[in-house]
Amino acid sequence: MIKIENLYKKFNDLEVLKGINLEIKKGEVIVIIGPSGTGKSTLLRCLNYLESPDSGIIEIGNMKIDTENVTKHEISALRRNSSMVFQTYNLFKNKTALENITESLITVKKINKQKAEKIGLNILDQIGLSDKKDNYPSQLSGGQKQRIGIGRAMAVNPEVILFDEPTSSLDPELVGEVLDVIKALAEKNMTMLIVTHEMGFAKEAADRVIFMDEGKIIEETEADVIFDSPQNERTKRFLNKVL
Ligand code: ADP
Ligand code: MG
Repeated sequence: MIKIENLYKKFNDLEVLKGINLEIKKGEVIVIIGPSGTGKSTLLRCLNYLESPDSGIIEIGNMKIDTENVTKHEISALRRNSSMVFQTYNLFKNKTALENITESLITVKKINKQKAEKIGLNILDQIGLSDKKDNYPSQLSGGQKQRIGIGRAMAVNPEVILFDEPTSSLDPELVGEVLDVIKALAEKNMTMLIVTHEMGFAKEAADRVIFMDEGKIIEETEADVIFDSPQNERTKRFLNKVL
């Protein structure tokens, strides 16, 4: 249901993605690990077209685009198939928790306010924040803010949710509540692509782990295999540093 073929991206002379190929099945949870500066964020951002790839094919759900020959209309259709969860939440500061979740339902999906609120309240219940619906981001903890960030991504019912280090800006004691929300989504068969340094979580929740280095996918296997017996030297070196 997601297929990436030969994806390339440069920033000026810096080649960041050097031919990424990846297939993800519906309901699969893929964790991407790898050193910083390797292109993990750029890959996610290209899938959501926050960055324009230079070349390659991206297929998500019912949309297949050739990035070298793409229309604005195709880009917005592709974008609607994925949602992004950012390290720094990116919530609207002047909107409540509920409004942050319903915003894109109302403005992008053109769902009426009453119906959007019903969906929003249901999501708040799923992420355990019903009692915070009228709170503004400044009145929420980091973990709660990130759970709202996830709720906002869930609201539009995307084919895939892309997580870019969703717990890296959190105090250690707040990481667990966010990972629990992601695990609950995995149990509901949400397709997810997650960049994270939480190796314990990767081992527990991922169907597959991908090791990326210098703009390429170096190794790709089931979580237990990559952690217990990595095949590639670079993967071994990286895991030795982080585990
Ligand atoms: P990672 O997420 O693996 O740490 P990134 O995808 O953020 O890596 O970055 C990969 C490389 O691309 C880095 O060298 C980074 O400095 C560079 N880069 C990322 N975004 C931009 C940009 N908008 N303009 C120029 N260079 C960028
Ligand atoms: Mg990054």
